[in-house]
Parts: sequence; C-alpha cells; structure tokens
Amino acid sequence: MGNLLKNFLIILAAFLLIAVVFSSFSGFSTEPERVGIQEFITQVNNEQVKEVVVEGSKMVVTLHDDTKEVVKKETGESLSELFKNYGVEPEKSTKINIDIRENEGASYVLGSILPFLLPFLLIGVFIYFMMRSIQGANSRALMFGQSGAKEFNKDEKNKVTFKDVAGVKEAKEELSEVVEFLRNPKKFLDLGARIPRGVLLLGSPGTGKTLMARAVAGEAGVPFFHISGSEFVEMFVGVGASRVRDLFKKAKKNSPCIVFVDEIDAVGRRRGAGLGGSHDEREQTLNQILVEMDGFDPHTNVIVMAATNRPDVLDPALLRPGRFDRQVILDNPDIADREAILKIHAKKKPLSKDVELRRIAERTPGFSGADLANLLNEAAILTARKNRKTIEMEELFEAIEKTMLGPERKSRVITKKEREITAYHEAGHALVAHFLPNTDPVHKISIIARGRAGGYTLKLPSQDKHMHTKSEYLEEMSVLLAGFLTEKYIYNEVTTGATSDLRRATQTARKLITDFGMSDELGPRTFGQKEEMIFLGREIHEQKDYSEKIAEQIDAEISKFIDRAVKKADEIIRDKKEELQKIVDLLLKQETIEKEEFEKLLGEKPEIT
Ligand code: ADP
Ligand code: MG
Ligand code: ZN
Repeated sequence: MGNLLKNFLIILAAFLLIAVVFSSFSGFSTEPERVGIQEFITQVNNEQVKEVVVEGSKMVVTLHDDTKEVVKKETGESLSELFKNYGVEPEKSTKINIDIRENEGASYVLGSILPFLLPFLLIGVFIYFMMRSIQGANSRALMFGQSGAKEFNKDEKNKVTFKDVAGVKEAKEELSEVVEFLRNPKKFLDLGARIPRGVLLLGSPGTGKTLMARAVAGEAGVPFFHISGSEFVEMFVGVGASRVRDLFKKAKKNSPCIVFVDEIDAVGRRRGAGLGGSHDEREQTLNQILVEMDGFDPHTNVIVMAATNRPDVLDPALLRPGRFDRQVILDNPDIADREAILKIHAKKKPLSKDVELRRIAERTPGFSGADLANLLNEAAILTARKNRKTIEMEELFEAIEKTMLGPERKSRVITKKEREITAYHEAGHALVAHFLPNTDPVHKISIIARGRAGGYTLKLPSQDKHMHTKSEYLEEMSVLLAGFLTEKYIYNEVTTGATSDLRRATQTARKLITDFGMSDELGPRTFGQKEEMIFLGREIHEQKDYSEKIAEQIDAEISKFIDRAVKKADEIIRDKKEELQKIVDLLLKQETIEKEEFEKLLGEKPEIT
C-alpha cells in the first residue's frame, strides 16, 4: 500500500503543477480589458480598431494606440454577420485587419472544460493505479483461470536431453518408451495399444526428477509445460481447478506435448487427511487433474509427468491404471553414477589435470545429483577466492566437507580448555569407530569448528550400502556416545557439546524398536502409525497404535539398548587409553588428522569377520 500512496502523491503533484501552469497561462490572456460588443462597434465606427483576432467566441482586439481588449461574441456568429447586424459600414470594416484562428478556439474551449474534468480524471487515474498495484502485488489473483505454466524447449540451446542426465539407467530405459510414444504414436495406436497417460517420477530431493522430465521432452522434441504443485494452492478456492483446466487446454492445443506437474504431493495428498481449511482447495485441484486425465480421448497425445519425493502420501486415486500408472524411480546415485554426474557438471569448469573425479565419487556416498552439482560449484568458488585458474583436488575435498558439514569457522575463539575437551571428544568417537568391527572407517578428524559443530569425525562407508544390520546400528550408537563417555572418563564431568550425539543415539534406539522390529523383547512389529496431517502448517506425525503398557516397555528397551552401547564404548575407551592419548596429542598439534595418518597411528582397521 505504501507504493500506492506514493504513486498517488506523484500524480497529485503533477496535476497541481499543470493547474498552476494553466492558471498562469490563462492569467496572461485575460490581462486585456474586457469590453462589451456595443463599445467594440463604437470603436469600429470611430476607426479606432487596427486588428481583430478571432478565436472561437473570443476576439482579441488591438486598437491603433496598441491597447488590447477582449470582446465576446456568440459562438456561431461570424464577425461579418456581427458587423452586418450592428449596421457597420462596409468601408469601415474592410480597414480592419481580421485574423481568424480556429485551433486556438478549440484549445480555449478545452481549457475552460478542463478544470471541471480534472477531478474526474484524478479519480480515474487513482483507481487505475490501485488496480495495477493489486495486480502487481499478487499478479495472478486477477487472472483467475490462467495456468501460468511455463513452456520450455522452445530454444534449441537450452534443450536438455538424456545425455545431460547421468546414471539412472533403468529410469532412462523406462522413459525412452515414453519418448517413442511421443515421436511415433501411430505405431502403437495401430496395434491397439493404449498410450500411457501419466508417468510418476519418484525420488528423494535432488535426484534429478525435474531434469529427467525436461530430458524426456527434449529427446522427443515436443513442448514441455511445467507447473509446480505448490503453484496451484493459492489464495482463492477454485483457482487451482481452473488453472488445471487452462493448462490442459493449452496442452491439447500443442499436442503432442508433455505436461509436467512438479511436486505433485502438494496437491495430490490423500484426500480428507487434512485439518483446517486449505485441503478443500487441494481436493478440488486434484479432482480436476483426475477429470482431465480421464477425459483425454485415446488419440490425444499428451503425456502427463509428475514428480514427488513423498509417494507414501499420494492419493491412491492418482495411481490407478489410466492415470499415473507408470512409476519411475530415481535412486540416489551409486559410485559410478556419481562419477558420471561429476563429469557432466565438470565440463564447463577448468579442472586441473591431476583431478581424479573417481576419488571424489568415493568420498561422497549419499550425495544426490544436486549435491554433487553444488559441490563442484563450491569448489569453483573456493578456487576463485584463492585467485587460481584451475580447480585442484584440494578445493574439491574442501568443498565436500563444506557441503556435508557447513563452512569452517576457523576464527571462532575457543579457550585452551575447550579445545582440549573437543580433542578428547572427537578422539573418543574416532577411537571407538576404529575398533568396532561393523562401523565405517574414519576418514578425517578435526577440531576446527564447522557449521554448528565444535569439531567433527568423518566416517565414510567403503561401499554404497542399501541395508543395515542390527549390529551396525548398535555400534553406530556406541560411536555416537563415545564423545560423551570420553569426556566423562577423562574429566569426570560432561559438557553441553554432546547434546546432539545423545539425541541421535536415542533416536536410533527408538527406531530399532519401533520401525525395524529389532528388539527381541517386543518382537517383529512396528509401533506407531505414521500419519500425514497438516495442522497449522506443521506436520503431526505418529499416531499411537499401542497401549500405555507397551509404551513403557519401549522406553525400557531404549534404555537397555543405550546401556549396551555405552558398555561397549566404555570398554574400548578404557582398554585403548594410550591410543586415545596419541590421537588427542596429534589433534592438538595439527588440528586435523586424515585417514592415512590416523591409520599409521592406530594400525589398519581390524577386518570385519
Ligand atoms: P529434483 O527435481 O529431483 O529435486 P532436480 O532435477 O531439480 O532434482 O536436480 C537438481 C540439479 O541436480 C539438476 O539441475 C542437475 O544439475 C543436478 N542433477 C541431479 N541429478 C542429476 C543427474 N542424474 N545427472 C546430472 N545432473 C543431475
Ligand atoms: Mg524438482
Ligand atoms: Zn560428538
């Protein structure tokens, strides 16, 4: 509204200015004396008049002594008629120099109307600007029905194809069928095959779903309409549905083409599961999508693609045959895929000759495609900050840690005592991780603050893993608790630095029991129903589907698991006190220890038996 007021004031000022100019202008013109027609005629008869300038109904009269005066006559009446009516002798009137100016007359008329018109104009302009600023503020509010879908693939230069998507081989195979449909629908229709309507891309954030959808459109060479589920959910009920209608109308006009609904879970959640108002709007939007998809006749060559990272919350109606019946899963990349993704994104960046992307891929398990793209970008920024021309291995490693843990905070002032405590804490984590058989090897220990952590111990799996055993979880808990336990063992006291370790250990224990059925006591079942509900913008999880008695048992089991993990960790810390001291000394000396140095210190990690 501040903007609106400003506009209004500017307009007001402009009009005031015009009014001032106008009034001063008209001030000039009214300067001559105003005389009646009778007097004018007398002057003509006395041969006093030198010149008459006629502007509409106004006449500016100049006398021989150069005084000026203004005379008004009737608008329709011409000067000669006037003379005739008043019986002026023709010889006398011919001596007068007469000049008739039509235009000035018009401007005069306008000038006399304008003051009346001005307030109306002002109000009109005010309303116009008000409308405009409403539109500007939430521009689509007044364009109810329009979908605002963006069309891509218009220009060849930014076209994305399968070449730009690394890895995800199975997904590409699945989708090349869709490409084939779009390119050559007749082949399939002749055989009576039904063209797939909907393809759902599933995958965690950053696995390249959006990228993949664009690549399909690029491969097929068809237009691509992109809209995000969250765009549907807007201020007015019913807008979402009419947007869907508009979007599909556009799509049918441009067939063959792809309609891509990104983040469909924003509208496609299980119906009736929401609390509060907004779900009405979502339901209508979702229903409209279903109606449109059902309404395609078999020859409409429009394929709807959608992406989500929450397939569990989708409404089952979406997944019915004839709708999104094809589901393509995009996994987080494995080591080979990670290397391939890095290669794609490294193309436009000057890498030094001795960069081995394979080693970067090894060090980044669990990274998504987006993380990897981001990593290379971070490395480029680091290199630029150092004023170098090519990206070295060093910057890439640094970028990995930055993406994982946040930026280093070397300047954080810590006391000598704090530094020592941190060293013991991290050494404890590393020590226990090293001597337990089922944990990931230690890659790096550091007591430089990073992100919110005071120090960190980086462990990386030697291979990509998709499944985990109970012993792995229990040992992981021991490692998590080791920092806390070491502090306690050395100082007989604990600090607040271990809070998040403790929380994670407790959560792991709870999951073991309630999700994975790994408790012998409580048996192979899950506890708690994970329900999706939106209430006041927050998701309420977990619904209890067990009795209070069981709840107590779960609590007891959690404590038991923790106790076990504590015992294991404690044993190692007490047994390997010398080794612990060695790690701490080295850490205090050089702040970080890399894998190689660490293994020199403690020997190779004992083989898994
Ligand atoms: P999502 O939609 O699944 O969240 P995006 O498609 O937006 O992920 O991916 C984000 C970015 O990550 C892409 O723009 C691309 O730069 C990169 N990326 C992700 N996966 C891949 C891949 N398989 N190959 C190449 N780049 C990828
Ligand atoms: Mg996306
Ligand atoms: Zn810790």
